[in-house]
Parts: sequence; structure tokens; C-alpha cells
Amino acid sequence: VAAITVGFAGADLANLVNEAALVATRRNGDSVTLPDFTQAIERIVAGIEKKHRLLSEQERRTVAYHEMGHALAALALPGSDRVQKVSIVPRGMGALGYTLQRPTEDRHLMRRQELLDRLTVLLAGRAAELLVFGELSTGAADDIAKATALARDMVVHYGMDDVLGPVSYADVQRRYFGMPDGIGPPGATGFGADTAQRIDAAVLELVQEALDRARAILGCHRAVLDRCADALLARETLDADEIAALTGDLAVSSGTPAERRDRRPVTA
Ligand code: ZN
Repeated sequence: VAAITVGFAGADLANLVNEAALVATRRNGDSVTLPDFTQAIERIVAGIEKKHRLLSEQERRTVAYHEMGHALAALALPGSDRVQKVSIVPRGMGALGYTLQRPTEDRHLMRRQELLDRLTVLLAGRAAELLVFGELSTGAADDIAKATALARDMVVHYGMDDVLGPVSYADVQRRYFGMPDGIGPPGATGFGADTAQRIDAAVLELVQEALDRARAILGCHRAVLDRCADALLARETLDADEIAALTGDLAVSSGTPAERRDRRPVTA
């Protein structure tokens, strides 16, 4: 249980135990077992299964490629959180499928390259759709929102843009909230229009580059992507072992030898 709850706070664990007990009760179990905990995690992370929500065959194919895109990109970038499960059973309010990734350890510090990898995995669903169908769909809306927020944090909070430099642009607007434009203490009047423009451009560059990189990774592994999407369409859900059996070791063929040396080893 500890391995699947990395990063959980006490209240999250209490909630998980409660959910797992409910799952066990529903199947009339005598005790709470590990599969109950796994199911409880999925309910908490992705929402309740909605098996009756019927998708057309084309929609199922799109969702299958989208989710496998996330999973394969995560496997090809070994610093990524471990892929535990990929599913095309609709869940929760709007999710038509999901890729369950859990970190293998508590993280308190992220390097720039790890954030770029995370952006790439987030955009890999759309990248797979573009690569296979050559079309955009609404399925990537949530991924795009998360990627945009992360890219913006990199630029305005973490000082990771070369042009804008190691300067925080995050608090400027908040500090003078409610004041007319340009009015604040002397010498601290926020940033100008050209800086705002550069922030927008930097965010767009980060997200666009991540999408291009995801497309390149999936293009390299197109045969594996097809094989995994077919398996997912047939079985609806693939766990970590099943995915590993279908993909082999993707990480070996991605990046240059020097890049691979720099990356953290895959855990488990
Ligand atoms: Zn997605």
C-alpha cells in the first residue's frame, strides 16, 4: 500500500482506508485486501467507473491512442512517474479514459529537465491523436490546462526562461491587486507590456516544444503504439506488467547515450 500512496498526507490515507473498506463491504468481503486498496485509489484519482457510458468505435480508438500516448511517453522518459494502469473505461465526470501514474518516491525538488519531461508526457495524448488521426479533438483539454499551468510556473515562478532570467514575475500583479494600472510604491510598478508578451511567448514555446517532442518519441515507437492501442481496445484496461510485456524496454532507444546517463534509473 505504501508503494501506491507516495505523496499521500495523513488525511489522504484516512480517506483511502475508508474507500477501501467501502469497496470490501460492497463485495461482502471479510477483510480489506490489496485489490480493494487498488480499486479505492482509482476511485479517488480518476472517479467512479461509468461502464454504461457508450462511446462510438471511433471515439474508443481515439481514447485508446490518446491514453497509450501518455503511457509510452512516460515509459520512454525514465524520470517520469511509474505507469500503473491504462484504461479506456470512462470514469468520473468527464474522463473517457485515464493513465494512472504514481510517483515512486516523495519528491521535493524537480530539475528543469524533469519538468520538461512531465510537459512532454502531458502533451503525449494529443501528440498520439495527431500522429495517428491527423486531427485535433477535445479530449486533450484537461492535459492542455495542466501543461499551460506548469509551463507558466516554469517561466514566472522558477526563473527558467533564458530571456526573462532568474526573476519572479509571479507576485507583481497580486501585490498591487485592486490598484489602477502602473500605480504602486515608487520603483515597483510591475512589468511592462513587452514583458507580458515575452511571458506568453515563453509559455507557448515550452508547450509547443513538448508537443513536438512527444510526437517525435511516439513516431519512433509507432509499431509499439499500434500494438498497445489494439490490446487496450480489446481488453479495456492494461496494468504495468501487461504494458511492459507489450512494449519491452522503450527507454533504451530514446535519447542519446549521454542523455540516458543523466537520467535517473527506472525504479521497479
Ligand atoms: Zn490525456
